[in-house]
Amino acid sequence: MSQSALYPCFLGPYGENDQLLESLMVEFLRDHVYWRRNLHPEDLPAIPTGANRRADYVEFESRLRRELHLLSAALKRSVPFHSPRYLGHMVSDLLIPGLAAQVLALPYNPNNVSADAAPITIDLELRAGLQLAAMFGWPADPEREDCAFGHLTSGGTLANLQGLRLALALKAFPVALRAASAPLACLPDDDWDAFNTGPAAATALFAQWCDWRDALHPRERQAWQRRVDAERIETLGIAGFMERHPRLSVPKVFAPATAHYSWSKGMKMLGLGQAQLALVPGRAMRLDVDALEEALDDCLRRRQPVLMAVGVLGSTEFGSIDPLDGLADVRERMQSRGLGMSLHLDAAWGGYLASLFRTPDGRLRSRDEVGAGFAAFPRPEVHAAFAAIPRMDSITVDPHKLGHLPYGSGAFLCRDQRAIGLLAEDADYVFDGATAAGYFQRHRQLGRYIPEGSKPGANAAAVYVTHRVLPLDHANFGLLPAQGLRATEAFVAEARAFIGRIAPLATATVPFAPDCNLVCLAINPRGNRDVARMNRFMRGLHDALRADPGQPLQRGEYFGSMTTLRSGAMGAADAARVLAELRLPADALDGAGDDADRIVVLRHTLMNPFLLDEGAAGGGYVRGYFRHLERLVAAALAPGGVRQDVTA
Ligand SMILES: *Cc1c(COP(=O)(O)O)cnc(C)c1O
Repeated sequence: MSQSALYPCFLGPYGENDQLLESLMVEFLRDHVYWRRNLHPEDLPAIPTGANRRADYVEFESRLRRELHLLSAALKRSVPFHSPRYLGHMVSDLLIPGLAAQVLALPYNPNNVSADAAPITIDLELRAGLQLAAMFGWPADPEREDCAFGHLTSGGTLANLQGLRLALALKAFPVALRAASAPLACLPDDDWDAFNTGPAAATALFAQWCDWRDALHPRERQAWQRRVDAERIETLGIAGFMERHPRLSVPKVFAPATAHYSWSKGMKMLGLGQAQLALVPGRAMRLDVDALEEALDDCLRRRQPVLMAVGVLGSTEFGSIDPLDGLADVRERMQSRGLGMSLHLDAAWGGYLASLFRTPDGRLRSRDEVGAGFAAFPRPEVHAAFAAIPRMDSITVDPHKLGHLPYGSGAFLCRDQRAIGLLAEDADYVFDGATAAGYFQRHRQLGRYIPEGSKPGANAAAVYVTHRVLPLDHANFGLLPAQGLRATEAFVAEARAFIGRIAPLATATVPFAPDCNLVCLAINPRGNRDVARMNRFMRGLHDALRADPGQPLQRGEYFGSMTTLRSGAMGAADAARVLAELRLPADALDGAGDDADRIVVLRHTLMNPFLLDEGAAGGGYVRGYFRHLERLVAAALAPGGVRQDVTA
């Protein structure tokens, strides 16, 4: 592939594509104006043509311009996400297709809460869901009964919440059917079994119930609907439901120690309680499936219900990818032993990497195919994880992260569209014949399912158009993450050279081989054996890599972020290895002090497509960054240097 394919995609570090973007903005703003004029051209203008010469108009305009200039000036102190010198958080330049589509759609102001308010963009949202589902290898043909379903959310946080909601609905519904004595075949024998039906069988049961109900006479249909609704956890609340079913208790959620804090938020919001969120210890920052299986075994013995296990595809802090194949195997084993649970994949960060693993005709690429052009990516474990994605029940993916789209776009997907009806605020029978109608007709009243109410149709337009211009396969959208992964491999190679160069001053390491395009780096001043001191030193480096709003932006050479490594996420063996690599004592993390249970590391997100350009004074931005970092370390550790204190 050639990098030239990416030339028209972004406004560019230097604003290179200003003419393209400007012509699109102007053309489609005019187009919108003509649309207004053509609605009823016979109507007289409401705002007189000479209004702009009135004193109060002129005064208004000058106030407006003044405020916009102030805003524009203030925004010059923004973080330069677009620059290849920015290696910090999970954000980079915006894709022109998405930016243009979003701006184009904004003045139409579609509201994707319902088809009434967004006749066009609701369909685009449903189609964007199908585009993402196809990228992950789920059935995305709307003619299929078990076609996947997806919708947008404000971000990954609400998509994760939606995952919890759907899992809870699927878990509790079979119990409600039993309690209502619905005359369906194959209802589970008791409450415990019903609560452990598992998402696939529960979805089938819900579909069976819908079919049975819809065949009833309307009056009977409503009576049955009320009877079942009265037994649902969504009606009774968790406390009321548990009171009615004393053999059940509030179910637990298992997530890896690296899980994003949105999981804690979600547990609180749903009223399950954060105490029910169990963090599974990691092994090299990745979910330890053996530890998970042990914990689930224990749940089965104690008859402790489990709602869901979460896998992470690209953790927020380390980019680590959980062994999803192992996770799916554990779920199957536990399900066959009578402990049912949903699997949710939190791919808020790494989801779009899946585009690299798909051919244009939808086939999963082999590891060799994906790996052509990379030194080491993908490790066999990483390829196995991507291959196992279709075995999950629901997925979070953020178009506003690796999708290079403006903020306000996350996405929630579930494997089988028939499940989503469980989240509806009103029963399907209210929409007469809704279940019989086609896919798009059936799901158009999005407000019934989503956690939000009113929401921007413009975002849906942006996501859909981007996926059309850059289909989610390796030959199109995949070119983008491929650039980031190549930059990552160059970054790791440069890091090795850097580690050698600064050895006289400090001991540095890349604590974990990166699974994707997020790399951490730890640096300990030579001779230091105190982790709190090392952390002070690292925070000093991070301060120098931060966009400081009190300083001219140009003073910052490069921009990075930081995070911390805790032994819980690393696992004992890897914690010991990392400490040894940094020449810290083996018990360095055992301290109780504020900072003695973690290691501060620099965190680099490599998603700018131009990182490997000659750019910064030749040699590229990756090399330039390490030269800069070397200067920072040397300055901080120079005798009499500002940070000499930390090595004393
Ligand atoms: C970013 C992120 C989230 C939260 O997504 P928002 O869009 O910030 O709400 C959740 N999980 C992971 C793994 C993330 O990286």
